[in-house]
Amino acid sequence: MTEPLNIAVLSIHSSPIGTLGTGDTGGMSIYLLELVRALAERGHKIDIFTRVLVRGDAPLIEYGSRIRIIQLQVPGTENLVKNKLFGYLPDYQREIDKFCQQQHASYHIVHSNYWLSAVVGDSLQSTWGCPHLITFHTLARFKMAARQDHVENPLRVEEESRLLARCDGVMVATATERDQLATLAESAKTPVHLVPLGVDFDRFKPLPDAVEKVTRSRRRPPVILFVGRFDPMKGVDTAVKALALLDEEIEPELHLVGGDSPESEAEVRLVSLVDDLGLQGRVRFNGSVDHQRMPEMYRQADIVVVPSYYESFGLVVLEALASGIPAAVTPTGIAVETIIPDLNGYFAAIGDSRSLARAMTDALALARHQDPFLIRRSVQSYDWSRVADLVFSVYSGALLRSETC
Ligand code: UDP
Repeated sequence: MTEPLNIAVLSIHSSPIGTLGTGDTGGMSIYLLELVRALAERGHKIDIFTRVLVRGDAPLIEYGSRIRIIQLQVPGTENLVKNKLFGYLPDYQREIDKFCQQQHASYHIVHSNYWLSAVVGDSLQSTWGCPHLITFHTLARFKMAARQDHVENPLRVEEESRLLARCDGVMVATATERDQLATLAESAKTPVHLVPLGVDFDRFKPLPDAVEKVTRSRRRPPVILFVGRFDPMKGVDTAVKALALLDEEIEPELHLVGGDSPESEAEVRLVSLVDDLGLQGRVRFNGSVDHQRMPEMYRQADIVVVPSYYESFGLVVLEALASGIPAAVTPTGIAVETIIPDLNGYFAAIGDSRSLARAMTDALALARHQDPFLIRRSVQSYDWSRVADLVFSVYSGALLRSETC
């Protein structure tokens, strides 16, 4: 299959151009933008359908050559939290149909991201007759298994099973998720494809060796970096508690990147935890940082901490390692496949601040002597170009199967 494809990418609940690290906007946005850029470079045309961020914003954004972002306007849903969107999905589908009629647009493939988009993609497939592929990004059953206090709408669990059985293929980002889905997918006879995420190696890189060493030795106290949404699944409070347990001689700082606002419930709770533990002055709240500035944030850090309860992938691990800094991680997401103790990081038990403190101490020691370029090399296969090739082969396979049916 060599002809260029017209691809409809659905990301209804979260806009790929939303603010990273806030609300529900995280790795999925990076994935979408990097993937469509790489596909467009190969000649394919991509329309991303998403909801408008601000009422009255332009309905269509030309996002570089061959990529359009269609900002669907369904009144009253602009600021709605994602778990209230289900009832409005038929309205979103109507808006997509309207756009396609007006623009005479048609597609070879529908690629849905997250279950809410997959509900829409499933209906579109019925009318458009083209293959429907789903990347769930997270699955309710796995999130519930990861944290007992995590509540999911039973409707989501049901819908995910229904959609899995009806679609033409599912893409998962880690071997763990592929294995977890295997039984369900086998009984549904749905192909499951392993397609990891990537990292931009031109942007995420260590400083040239000499400068790196000098900068590090001058930097006191050491900096531990956390990057992500302040969602209970990210376990940021475990990182704060672990900081309090670190050897007093080291006294590192914890720099937090992400979070909705200083007034948000999650951040207020974290600030009071910091106060209770007497860590004032050692935890810095940076708020959300533009992704363009993230390479600099990693280069200023000694290590990264990823204390998640669950990750469907965990781009932060790749970004840290590509930048040449070790990571203290829980065994979740891509960390399981990339972290090698004594080479690029250490594992800690989930939700266990004592274990995380040990992993952080070891990672800080490793950061003092390990060659950043060795750490970077450990993730060299995760580039976006390979991701786009894998996704394209999934699209091609689904098209071939649909033609031979
Ligand atoms: N990120 C960012 N600015 C922030 C917070 C996060 O650019 O303030 C980026 C981060 O660099 C990474 C992504 O958001 O690329 C988070 O991806 P990850 O897979 O780790 O988490 P998710 O949010 O998808 O669970």
